[in-house]
Amino acid sequence: MSDLYSKMYLIFIAIVLAFALAQAFLGYWLASEKGRSPKAWFWLCLFFGIPALITLGLSPQAVSLNVKKIVQKKEESLSHDMSVSWNCPKCNKENPNDSYTCKSCGYKLQ
Ligand SMILES: [Zn+2]
Repeated sequence: MSDLYSKMYLIFIAIVLAFALAQAFLGYWLASEKGRSPKAWFWLCLFFGIPALITLGLSPQAVSLNVKKIVQKKEESLSHDMSVSWNCPKCNKENPNDSYTCKSCGYKLQ
């Protein structure tokens, strides 16, 4: 009989551990979705379970590094577009954007 009890005890422990791990991984995923530290929330959800998940779920979206990178890239590409060279309408030679006169024929822009 004690064998059965120890088996049930092990199954109970396994279920509790599986549940805690499921919460931890849910916290990990939720944190990365919210742009927060997934590792920190993994441990928080592992030890505090549902309350930590609710706290994370209710917390506002943090500006993630990825979003910052995307914004930065967009700004970079915009500034790149601004610095695109222009072709001289007179001699059709390429000129850098910061110059207002054609380098080869002296044509004035504007
Ligand atoms: Zn020119």
